[in-house]
Amino acid sequence: MKNTNEMEIIFDSHSSNEGFARVSVAAFLTQLNPTVEEVADVKTAISEAVTNAVIHGYENEIHKVSIRCRIEGQQITVEVKDNGVGIEDVEQAMTPLYTSKPELERSGMGFAFMEAFMDSVEVESAPGEGTTVRMKKTIGKGRELWTTQSL
Ligand code: ATP
Ligand code: MG
Repeated sequence: MKNTNEMEIIFDSHSSNEGFARVSVAAFLTQLNPTVEEVADVKTAISEAVTNAVIHGYENEIHKVSIRCRIEGQQITVEVKDNGVGIEDVEQAMTPLYTSKPELERSGMGFAFMEAFMDSVEVESAPGEGTTVRMKKTIGKGRELWTTQSL
């Protein structure tokens, strides 16, 4: 299909791969000419989702995390997937300040950040099967007018 572009990366759930994941998605995003702020938003959301896969999904065991990215027009869709423990109550998990690991001094703000920095966040999860977090963001919102006028 015209105007679509996809990529997928699969990596081990070492927390040291979080930076790799973040930068890979940022590099793929470059083709949409994002602002520095838009890149930072997407990177933050990716960090939160990958950290969750590593510490909650796999509880620090080493398994595979995958990230699928799809660009359609000016919109990027990113899916971060683990085949870990899954989430029993997604609504509760997504509530700001909720964390199942207060002993690790987590603040329970990961999903809240993803929602703040992306246009939409959907979570598909089943206990014992794993979790997929699907996030979307349109790049250049509100800048179209400016671009046309400056031509
Ligand atoms: P913070 O992100 O602020 O360090 P947190 O990770 O606990 O804290 P969220 O990222 O908002 O907070 O996640 C909320 C809760 O959802 C987690 O405590 C965990 O119970 C659950 N959760 C999130 N992602 C996953 C996942 N990939 N697999 C299993 N459980 C998850
Ligand atoms: Mg988190």
